[in-house]
Formats: sequence, C-alpha cells, structure tokens
Amino acid sequence: GNGILEGISRVADLDASKLTITLSKTLKPIPKDETLLFGNIMSDHMVVAEFDPEIGWSSPEIKPLGPLSLDPTSSCLQYGTSVFEGMKAYIGPDGEPRLFRPDMNMARLARSAERMALPPFSTDQVLALIKQLIIVDRRWIPLSSGYSLYVRPVVMGTRTGLSVVASDRATLCIMLSPAGPYFRSGAKPTVSVLAVSETIRAWPGGTGEHKVGLNYSPGFLPLRVVQKQGYDLVLWLWGDDMKVTEAGAMNVFVVVARDDGGLDLLTPPLDGTILPGVTRDSILALAKAHTAGETTLPGLETQDSQRVRLHAQERAFTMAEMVQWSTEGKILEAFGAGTAVVIASIGKIGWKGKDLDLPVHEGLGPIANAFRTRILDIQEGREVWKNWSLL
Ligand code: PMP
Repeated sequence: GNGILEGISRVADLDASKLTITLSKTLKPIPKDETLLFGNIMSDHMVVAEFDPEIGWSSPEIKPLGPLSLDPTSSCLQYGTSVFEGMKAYIGPDGEPRLFRPDMNMARLARSAERMALPPFSTDQVLALIKQLIIVDRRWIPLSSGYSLYVRPVVMGTRTGLSVVASDRATLCIMLSPAGPYFRSGAKPTVSVLAVSETIRAWPGGTGEHKVGLNYSPGFLPLRVVQKQGYDLVLWLWGDDMKVTEAGAMNVFVVVARDDGGLDLLTPPLDGTILPGVTRDSILALAKAHTAGETTLPGLETQDSQRVRLHAQERAFTMAEMVQWSTEGKILEAFGAGTAVVIASIGKIGWKGKDLDLPVHEGLGPIANAFRTRILDIQEGREVWKNWSLL
C-alpha cells in the first residue's frame, strides 16, 4: 500500500478501493425528524476494517450494523485503548450530502490514535469510507434544519492478552446516527453548568487534547452529582487558580464588555488540556473575519451605527475573573460550542454554592445566535464559506 505506513512497515494501509458492500436484507423504518434526539438510533449499516500486525489493514466492509465479536482480554476492554470522532453530514439545497470540515476531524482522529499507540491509517481512506457509508445510508440524513446525520468513527485496540503494552491490533468501525437537538431545550439550546474543582478532566501532559474514550468515562460520576444539584453539565477547571477549560462535550466562550465599547470573545487556549474543537476553530475564524470586515455575522451588522467589534482571543481566564466580570456586569454572554449541539447558550454558572450573575436572554444571546445561525447556514449548504462544507 501507499500512504502513511510506507517506511514504517511492509503491511497494508487501509484501502477504501477494496471496499466490499453487503446490504442489510431488512431496512429499519426511518424515524420522523421531530422524534430525534441525539445518538440513540443507528442507521442500517456500518463500516468495519481490522488491523493485523502481520498483514496490515483488511479490506474494509460495509455490512448490516450489528454486534462485534471481541475477545474478553481485548486491549480496548481491559485498558481503554479506544479513540473516536464526531462529525455531521447534511443534505444541501442541491440535494447532495455534505460534511463540515471533515479534514479537521480526520487529523484529530489520527492524532488520538497515535497518542494511544494504536496502529496508523491513512485518514483520506477513512474519509473515503465515511463518504461511502453515507451514500449507502443516505436516506437516513434528516432534511429539517437543525437535524443531521452524526458520524461516529471509532478505532479500538483488539490485541488479546493481559500484558500492559500497546495494542498492535485494532478494529475501525464507523456508525451513523440521525440526530436532532442535543439538549431538551431544543432549537435554541440553553444549558446550566456547575464549576467543579474536586475532579479534574485534564491536565498538562495528559490526554485532554485528544478524543480518547478515557477522557469521558471518569466524568460520568461528577456529571451525575451536578445533575442531582439541578445543573446540566460539569464546567471543568484546571490549576490552583481555577482556570476555566471546557463543559461536557463543548468548548467554552464568554463575551465580555470592553472599556472601548467593543467585545472580548474569550476562549481558553489550546494548552494541551483542551480538546481542539472544530466548532471552536470555526467560531474564532468567523469572528476574526467579521472584525476584519471580510464577512458580517447575522444580527451584528450595526449597533450604534457601527459594526460590533469582536476581539476574539484565545486566553486563559479563571473563576475569580468570571466572578469579578459578572459582579461588574461585564459578562454579556457565555456559550458552549461543539459538533453535537453546535452552539448552546450557558444560562447559569454555579460556583461555590452560588450562581454567577449573568444576563438573561430569550433563548440564545445575540453573539451566540449570530454564530449558530451562520454556522448552520454553512453546514446545511445555504451559504458558502471557504471550503468548509464539502460534498
Ligand atoms: N470538548 C470536548 C471534550 C468534546 O468532546 C467536544 C466534542 N468533540 C468538543 C469540545 C467540541 O469539539 P468539536 O467542535 O470538534 O465537536
């Protein structure tokens, strides 16, 4: 094979041109868009390919979605060697399926796999397989705005035996799930978060910047605790100074009023503890383009007969700063951003037994709404921006 394995070993790279397709004899009924939530229904088919250290990647298969057979000593079951991605497919006004910036997800998948010492693969081949699966199951792509087909590739270590070593075997599996609103708050999602200092999601030198399964399961117990207290998500902090990092499966943004009349749009920097979100990157790029006059974000055209000046900054900020800004009335909005939810307003932030004073918005605040509207327009193909929405 060509590609990424060349020079490393003689085994075969993943090769989408060797794909075999076995269609399911019984197709499931497609649920109505309005009934969809997130991630609880899968489409009819899946992609499976296996890596063997002697042979390399097997010819990939599309086949009916169903259970995988795993030895109980498999590395992914014993040691959590499992990495994944989350991206979305949409049908554009032209009737064609499209993906949002899939190259970014593919690059992140390769980095995650490398971090867990899983076998390498060419990401263009994974993307080609994703496209094939979407074509086979295209009737599963919801048509309503705000609905999409979530794509979940996973690479899991399948080395058998209990030695505490890297998995030299792996299975790639790709699944599709029709998706509606991520939160019960629906089309104008609003969430509450509780800042937690007792449990840490990620730390310098850890795996926070990778999409590994092991970043998520240790958060389930704290999540249960904050939900018992009436909050939707954990706001993860890091460091003795209680720096804000992320919330749930979302990167976090705050909009802070500046003394010069402009707005600071702040998000924590990619210091290794933060997942480099595709939505995060898109917001930063759009904010910079808006401020440079290269585009205009919906609803932010004029205010005081002047373009709203957004100063997008990747900079660390602490809970103490959040408290100070909120007492001074300077926090205009807070929101979370991620593939699943796109953008959700953060309506409440709990910290040390109190809630910060945040302005109340009907649904989303104007800045969150501007980004959400523009990003959905690009994702759903109503608007063209760079080459972010790919057929
Ligand atoms: N942070 C975490 C921990 C996540 O799981 C996700 C979802 N991938 C995000 C942020 C948002 O990233 P993206 O915009 O690429 O979905």
